[in-house]
Amino acid sequence: MATVTPVTNAHIAQSAASSPYQRLALGFHVMAGPCSIETQEQIRQTAAFLASRGVKILRGGAFKPRTSPRSFQGLGEPGLQLLREAADAHGMLAVSEVMDVEAVPLVAEYVDVFQVGARNMQNFSLLKRLAKERKPVLLKRGLAATVDETLCAAEYILQGNPEVVLCERGVRGFEPLTRNMLDLSGAALLRQLSPLPVIVDLSHSTGRTDIVAPLAAACVALGVNGMMVEVHPRPAESVSDAAQAISFERFDEILATMAPYLAARAAVEAARQPAPELVEACG
Ligand code: PEP
Ligand code: MN
Repeated sequence: MATVTPVTNAHIAQSAASSPYQRLALGFHVMAGPCSIETQEQIRQTAAFLASRGVKILRGGAFKPRTSPRSFQGLGEPGLQLLREAADAHGMLAVSEVMDVEAVPLVAEYVDVFQVGARNMQNFSLLKRLAKERKPVLLKRGLAATVDETLCAAEYILQGNPEVVLCERGVRGFEPLTRNMLDLSGAALLRQLSPLPVIVDLSHSTGRTDIVAPLAAACVALGVNGMMVEVHPRPAESVSDAAQAISFERFDEILATMAPYLAARAAVEAARQPAPELVEACG
């Protein structure tokens, strides 16, 4: 049995009371937006649509970790400006990837949540640098990382920054029909072995859009804190990850599929709260 990294509740208690991070640890949150920020029109349109559906966390990449150097690498700082503006227009939080130590101060100017991508999960210099920040860090599980390696990576950030969100995004597998193998048991274990919020990225794991709805329902039932999906106003035109880009219509279908599961989970969570008279009796 692998050693289990001792991430404790103390890490959560250290973050400011009812901060965005503490709210993330309750309920189910949807983080959505395009793979890459492409144009002002694209990110504005996406933010407006998502906000109209109650989404409060807008994602979008400005520094992209692309397999080929010939692929679009992201708009850089102008992209972050567009993301910030689109998020602010609807009071949303903005999350975007930071790829290296040098870029941390720049990205910090624009985002509410740093994303550490799967390829950087064991970039220990970056993790140590983010330990010095005071903003939440969304840490994605590496492409071939175990659950324990993921918790160890989180611990680097937790040495100075208590606000880590773990993200299961699928690991390399042998199945060609999906981009990665979504490890729901890994997500359940991350949830069980640490008090940190856990979200599941259903776009980079599946690499497709047609099975996201049932998996989103599964995530709600699993008890994780949320999910991430890539949404684009015109998926076929997406400059990166077009095959997994979810259209507005598909996003609505996903929400409709999730609705009864969200209601059931809310009922289960409400039933878990101690009855008011018991609280009084204890108080
Ligand atoms: C992304 O979220 O755009 C991304 C590149 O994800 P991952 O690091 O999980 O591949
Ligand atoms: Mn992507």
